[in-house]
Amino acid sequence: MNNDLKQISPEIINIRRMIHENPELSYSEYNTTELINNSLTKWGLEFHPFENLETGGYCDIGNGHILAFRSDIDALPINENPCHEFCSKNSGIMHACGHDYHTAIGLGLLKYFVNHQSELDGKLRVIFQPAEEADPGGAKSVVEEKIWDNVKEIFTVHVDSGLDIGKISVINGTSSASSTVIIVKLNGPGGHTSRPHETVDLIHVTAEFTIQVLTYLREHIDPRNSFVLAFGQIHGGDYHNVIPQTVTLQGTLRTFDNSILEKLLKLIKHFATCFSKTYGLSIDIKFTNTTPGVVNDDKMYQIFIEYINKVKNESNLVILQKPSMGADDFSFYLDKVPGLYLHIGGGGNSVAHSGDFNLNENLLKPALNHLIGFVSYYFKR
Ligand SMILES: [Zn+2]
Ligand SMILES: [Zn+2]
Repeated sequence: MNNDLKQISPEIINIRRMIHENPELSYSEYNTTELINNSLTKWGLEFHPFENLETGGYCDIGNGHILAFRSDIDALPINENPCHEFCSKNSGIMHACGHDYHTAIGLGLLKYFVNHQSELDGKLRVIFQPAEEADPGGAKSVVEEKIWDNVKEIFTVHVDSGLDIGKISVINGTSSASSTVIIVKLNGPGGHTSRPHETVDLIHVTAEFTIQVLTYLREHIDPRNSFVLAFGQIHGGDYHNVIPQTVTLQGTLRTFDNSILEKLLKLIKHFATCFSKTYGLSIDIKFTNTTPGVVNDDKMYQIFIEYINKVKNESNLVILQKPSMGADDFSFYLDKVPGLYLHIGGGGNSVAHSGDFNLNENLLKPALNHLIGFVSYYFKR
């Protein structure tokens, strides 16, 4: 396989660079979709657009029952550090979660099997999914597409900058947390910054809210249960000497347990009511649909471990002991079919969702090597 991988690697590396240089936000991945389509057409494969989404699509190779692989293709509203090689050309947009690699890996799998169809005792379906980062995520729409007949199982991979290149990690059972977007709108009378005592000093009060809500939750949730509430967006005010009438906060609430989630939602609402009375303002709170946690299928997990032990060097495998707090809408597919979520070593140790996120593109070859081997083993075992 190594020689064949050597042959396809330069093209896949090049595709990854092009995607990285031309990132597109969730649900707007038009050029990325075109690039996927053009590559597949060049290799003699057929790209199928989705019926109910303007971006993304899927491609099949082989015959028989189907194993699906999910590649997410969207980028984030982040400015990339301009020192990076093959830096984003779309100002304010960046592949800061590695979905450029995921797209390239999906294409690499298809490209390899074009010349190795005999290694496929079934059909591999690569789903190029838009908008993983959005709320609601693109997977919610993809599960409604008429593409699930005969799909037996699904798997995906996420690059991990904390894991060495060549390593692959997996966890038995729960792989990642559920995530609920929370939007808090604080409304006050507004006024002059010279007389905050005559109104509600809304920016000061919003800061208090972000601190006190966490203290309140910590006091009411059994510390043996994990959860995280953090805000990623704050908007309010237009002028230095005007106290605004509204400030909006947006963040995410993550946990592993639905009963704890229900309790957290109730507590946050209750806290907001008490807080608004204390400070003399009104608060509107909205929770969006929850993206459920990802739970790996036991049989898929066992097949993967078996594959590593029999075919690969087991020193490449890292079995995780704790799930991730990072949610993934891959969980929506798991309502349809059993699935498996893997992490692949990206090296570099930079932080995802930041402008400094930077992986080593040498990750692509070992990643493809692992995944091609797994697909062949899955069908042949
Ligand atoms: Zn992300
Ligand atoms: Zn991601």
